[in-house]
Amino acid sequence: MWDFSTDPEFQAKLDWMTQFVRDECEPLDVLFPHGGDPYDVHNVASRAILRPLQARVKEQGLWACHLGLDLGGPGYGQLKLGLMNEIIGRSYWAPTVFGTAAPDTGNAEILAMFGTAEQKERYLQPLLDGEIVSCFSMTEPQAGADPKEFTCRARREGDEWVIEGEKWFSSNARYAEFLIVMAVTDPDASPHRRMSMLIVPADADGVEILRNVSVLGERDDLDEGIHGYIRYNRVRVPLDAMLGGPGDGFAVAQARLGGGRVHHAMRTVGLCQRALDMMAERALSRRTQGEPLYKKQSVQQMLADSKIQLVQLRLLVLHTAWIIDTQPNGTARSSIAMCKVQMARVMHDIVERAVHLHGSLGVTLETPLAGWWASVPQLALADGPTEVHQGTVAKELLKAYTGTDDPFPTEHIPERLAAARDKHSVVLAAHGLT
Ligand SMILES: Cc1cc2nc3c(=O)[nH]c(=O)nc-3n(C[C@H](O)[C@H](O)[C@H](O)COP(=O)(O)OP(=O)(O)OC[C@H]3O[C@@H](n4cnc5c(N)ncnc54)[C@H](O)[C@@H]3O)c2cc1C
Repeated sequence: MWDFSTDPEFQAKLDWMTQFVRDECEPLDVLFPHGGDPYDVHNVASRAILRPLQARVKEQGLWACHLGLDLGGPGYGQLKLGLMNEIIGRSYWAPTVFGTAAPDTGNAEILAMFGTAEQKERYLQPLLDGEIVSCFSMTEPQAGADPKEFTCRARREGDEWVIEGEKWFSSNARYAEFLIVMAVTDPDASPHRRMSMLIVPADADGVEILRNVSVLGERDDLDEGIHGYIRYNRVRVPLDAMLGGPGDGFAVAQARLGGGRVHHAMRTVGLCQRALDMMAERALSRRTQGEPLYKKQSVQQMLADSKIQLVQLRLLVLHTAWIIDTQPNGTARSSIAMCKVQMARVMHDIVERAVHLHGSLGVTLETPLAGWWASVPQLALADGPTEVHQGTVAKELLKAYTGTDDPFPTEHIPERLAAARDKHSVVLAAHGLT
């Protein structure tokens, strides 16, 4: 059965969220607009506004909904989470207000799966309660897209792991209570068994933030961003700081990514919808040559193309969520990669049109558009660049095909024509068509 409807009870929750995000989360976006603001647990003013909002979300049973039943979440499944994330995506602050901000969500998942009872009490519970934030420290200065190039090392010394090396773009490190670090524990093992994942308290001796790297559109200064360039100077952690076993780093990293990518894609749908809302208002309100902008065919094309791309992306992401919910593990691999590739492209196209339609105002910092535009390249990089995901899609699709030894393709018309003639030779002969 194909069914695109939402059950009324859940729709009521979505309606509540839509209103709440507009009324309560979007104002935070303009009050505290800097990249790290939602994660800055030391900002007393923002927390004073945030905590009561989080309490209202909890009252509605909508807090940290990405969690499965075993972790006290509602176990909604990816399709419902997709619809929720579409609304959350309209606001930069909303993920924090709803307890679903990355990388804390993925980090909570792997702590729940692989952490000890003590680690869960020390890190997982405060993380789930929104009291602390965390960091995922994997990318290195010399390598990102291909983790097999990583060199940050963890060596066993007695009953400790000693971590030495550098990490780059460890988002939110400056606010984090702990970091989850991927390090090489056995350089001689096969490439996918070389690395392991370790929990490191942010205040451990030897954790040195060299710079807080800022990105395009975030801040002007070089050292006031949120992406930590970190040196681990012989940082010592106990043996049980390892999540999973030695060599399980890749498997643990994979465990935190699948659902998160779909959520992120749906948030992009929500953000693009907001850009389209702005385009529509502008087209109806702004006048040129004695008529509103929307009367111009080129403006209608911009609106129509944006709507078509957005609906296509939305269906792709929701279909992917449906596959995750209903098909065996791993079936959605290619679809997840398609969402990752396509969300950056669609955001690129829609936000660019929205900026353009707003004219000079569009390039100022007086609407959210310029900030969204500046963030487009990040979307195509964070969580792996487009090309890597295209590779996944291509490899998966090729599994259904085989090559041919014939110098001509199987669709070569002369050969197909000969075969068709042969197949219907009797009828063709009867009609004098041989
Ligand atoms: C906003 C943001 C937040 C991030 N947060 C974190 C974080 O919290 N923790 C963390 O560990 N990392 C984080 N990252 C890093 C992110 O994971 C990397 O940027 C990403 O994996 C790409 O690595 P790289 O930047 O080193 O690019 P590179 O690996 O150097 O790739 C650069 C370019 O090379 C090309 N390329 C690379 N591989 C291939 C390939 N296989 N085929 C064809 N072309 C290829 C692509 O054009 C690619 O864009 C974040 C990045 C961004 C932008």
